[in-house]
Amino acid sequence: MLIDAEKCTGCSQCIAYCPMEAISLRETSKLKKNGKPKKVAVIDLDECAECGVCLRSAHCPSQAIYQQPLTYPRTIRSIMSDVLTIAEESQISGRGTEEMKTNEVTGRFKRGIVGVAIEVGRPVTGARMKDVEKISMAVSKLGIEYEKINPVTSMMADPKAGKFKDELLDEKVLSAILEFAVKLDQLPELFSTLKKVEKEIDCVFSLDIACRLNQDGSNPTREYFDKAGLWVAPNGKTNLGLGRPLCASGE
Ligand code: SF4
Ligand code: SF4
Repeated sequence: MLIDAEKCTGCSQCIAYCPMEAISLRETSKLKKNGKPKKVAVIDLDECAECGVCLRSAHCPSQAIYQQPLTYPRTIRSIMSDVLTIAEESQISGRGTEEMKTNEVTGRFKRGIVGVAIEVGRPVTGARMKDVEKISMAVSKLGIEYEKINPVTSMMADPKAGKFKDELLDEKVLSAILEFAVKLDQLPELFSTLKKVEKEIDCVFSLDIACRLNQDGSNPTREYFDKAGLWVAPNGKTNLGLGRPLCASGE
């Protein structure tokens, strides 16, 4: 994202909208009528995740904010950060697949299988892809397979090893979702891997789990979280009435 310095009046309205704190006011060599230097807003392109929030939400009174054409590898910032960018792989906006939101599209998380999404950079911090890679390479040692239609997987040079393409490692995104499935009894190993790698990264991550509930309504993953001492925020995202028949098969 860029700001046209000729149009910007330095009103500072856009600054608070940037989740990456990439916008700041800078003095220019031009003088205002009162003799003080004119200030304009500038975007730090290294910190900007191309989320589009400033353009859509800050309502710049001078229409000084504009989207410059993005070229690869910077395009991945927009795919990972702008909710309106459609990812080619999943054909949906957003960073994960619909399955991780509902388990109703293919019903692929059957009993004993747990869908996992690691949302790197969320909440608040954003993430460099080199930190996403530290997590993906550590987790890949569990023998998992990253979800093919998740856009993050297509950014890997070696999905088996969780290795990303070198040219992407310095790119900054609002968040990147690593998506895969594990067996229920692999959760302790997953948790201990994440506890180790969290000390090596310069951002935060959230761990999402999607699974079928037991017949009595209890959550089969809960005891694993409790044993690992992890805080849980149970959350249901179910489209009642829209579930596919294969999800009701009891498998
Ligand atoms: S809202 Fe527009 S005019 Fe105001 S500082 Fe931002 S870019 Fe400049
Ligand atoms: S596109 Fe997003 S990250 Fe970039 S300057 Fe605007 S609000 Fe900040």
